[in-house]
Amino acid sequence: MKVTEHIKNASSTLFSFEILPPVKGTSIQSIYDGIDPLMEFKPPFINVTYHREEYVFKERGNGLLEKISIRKRPGTVGICSAIMNKYKVDAVPHIICGGFTKEETENALIDLNFLGIDNVLVLRGDSIKTEATFRPHPDGHAYACDLLQHVVSMNHGKYLDEDIANPLPTTFCPGVAGYPEKHAEAPNLATDLKYLKKKVDMGAEYIITQMFFDNKKYCDFVKACREIGINVPIIPGIKPLTTKNQLKLLPNLFHIDFPDDLVDAIEGAQTPQAVRQVGIEWAIQQSKELIQFGVPCLHFYTMSKSDAVVQIAKAVF
Ligand code: FAD
Repeated sequence: MKVTEHIKNASSTLFSFEILPPVKGTSIQSIYDGIDPLMEFKPPFINVTYHREEYVFKERGNGLLEKISIRKRPGTVGICSAIMNKYKVDAVPHIICGGFTKEETENALIDLNFLGIDNVLVLRGDSIKTEATFRPHPDGHAYACDLLQHVVSMNHGKYLDEDIANPLPTTFCPGVAGYPEKHAEAPNLATDLKYLKKKVDMGAEYIITQMFFDNKKYCDFVKACREIGINVPIIPGIKPLTTKNQLKLLPNLFHIDFPDDLVDAIEGAQTPQAVRQVGIEWAIQQSKELIQFGVPCLHFYTMSKSDAVVQIAKAVF
């Protein structure tokens, strides 16, 4: 079922979460171990991230370094299929522009369609660590809106090869990302919102936000979206802070701010367990307020570790 149908049919706030495929060579059991404890909160859908290649340099014995491309976390499509079979819930694979040709993307979408997957979260993807800015694949899509156009075209039975006789229309419900504190590369929030509106006008049916720790940022973002005519559901993304180190790491990675009260509480916590508890209590409070605000769903970034999210969900749902 489509994410938007789950939202439409819901009589209370939904619970969903995002997982990462395991590092290459790891058993899928690690995925099940992360999902199992979260099933009691009845997620109607589970998101699975997509990961592009990274480059590493390997010594080849002759003193020369060889640049090698490695995808450390493949398996998104297979994991989505396994989740649907095992848990009978919808899987939402992320699809990204970075690192893929349009042809490869189209073939992946065909696989997803054959597997009966109704949803995709359409993203640009980040730059690789060795590049200062995002560089699209020469034969790939540059922005999420270009990839979204591809998905929408397939939903209308239009494939890259226009000579296909009687092309089958796909039926994907596409979602996109939104940034309450603006995307790192956007010159300002208004410009970022202009491109978000473009994605919605092109066919995005809902938005999942980047993590935020101050609910006012989310509420202001929703208000700004509504003012410019973005009327699709906006699902808040929530990440419990679990280590002191994340105070530095997360703003750097995701271009987000922490409220003073949270920083003070985390810095004042004396043990790793106390830090973790502060982060969990904060996420519980955030979640309760967001439910009051009337959000359609609370979407948790688990990083494939479920224990903190279990504690939050127990207190909230
Ligand atoms: P876009 O919408 O393309 O926007 C990127 C930047 O370009 C923004 O600054 C925007 O303002 C600007 N822009 C957009 N359209 C245009 C245009 N037409 N012309 C000029 N400028 C434009 N990354 C992964 O690699 N894998 C994942 O699985 C993944 N999952 C994610 C899930 C969520 C919920 C979120 C919030 C992020 C996720 N990301 C993931 C990270 C995401 O790929 C990055 O944040 C990326 O830098 C931007 O992706 P986007 O889809 O928002 O890009």
